[in-house]
Amino acid sequence: MDISQYKINNEPFYDAQSNEVELYTAAYAARLPVMVKGPTGCGKSRFVEHMAWKLGKPIITVSCNEDITASDLVGRYLLDANGTRWVDGPLTMAARYGAICYLDEIVEARQDTMVVIHALTDHRRELSLDKKGELIKAHPDFQLVISYNPGYQSLMKDLKQSTKQRFCALDFDYAAPEVESHILQVEGKVDAATADKLVKIGETARNLKGHGLDEGISTRLMVYAATLINQGITPIEACKMALVRPITDDADIRQTLDNAIEMIF
Ligand code: ADP
Repeated sequence: MDISQYKINNEPFYDAQSNEVELYTAAYAARLPVMVKGPTGCGKSRFVEHMAWKLGKPIITVSCNEDITASDLVGRYLLDANGTRWVDGPLTMAARYGAICYLDEIVEARQDTMVVIHALTDHRRELSLDKKGELIKAHPDFQLVISYNPGYQSLMKDLKQSTKQRFCALDFDYAAPEVESHILQVEGKVDAATADKLVKIGETARNLKGHGLDEGISTRLMVYAATLINQGITPIEACKMALVRPITDDADIRQTLDNAIEMIF
């Protein structure tokens, strides 16, 4: 198993929101588990990838969904021509060979997955492969990172305190206007004036959160709009396609956002 295949070779572009790079560096130095919190598409995953690159450590990412079970993370026996054979899951691979394991949107996964991360996130730093009868002591480079969107949580679906209190946490939000504009210029390859206008539209939409919108327009969607503009689509069409149509089907809110777009561009 060559864990170095999970290393990121080229620097992922990342504009810091605050002092998160220093804070994460300190947490990694002590191998503390980290939770990155914030709305969807605000740069959490990009940040973790950037940090893995900066620290020169491999990173194994799992996008969690409701079908993810403990076995998907830990591993299972598979049947092949030579009989049964154990295959490590992503979490086991990271713990065994020393990678950062990033569990994106962990709350989406089934409750039984929480149990397997508990022993890995306290002083034990170990992972029990019950089916295989093996206890793994985590590699010194191993670190667990999870992402969490506070906006989505309901009482039915939330991390328990016993899980939350195993992580230190970094709060993320949409980047400040100047920073977000720079992100759009670099990632979406638009000029500063266009990027600034997109940021203004984003601001307008984010003010509608709680007044008809569940969540504001993400930086990810703003990068899409910039990319469409860069492809030659008119800014107004690009914005409607990337910023409005995906997030709401409410006719009034669409109208409000469309009007804002037409006013700003
Ligand atoms: P999240 O994990 O929070 O859902 P991502 O990290 O996938 O969101 O960010 C979505 C996209 O937004 C990225 O692919 C990138 O293009 C852009 N982005 C957001 N924040 C930043 C940032 N601070 N620096 C660079 N790019 C960013």
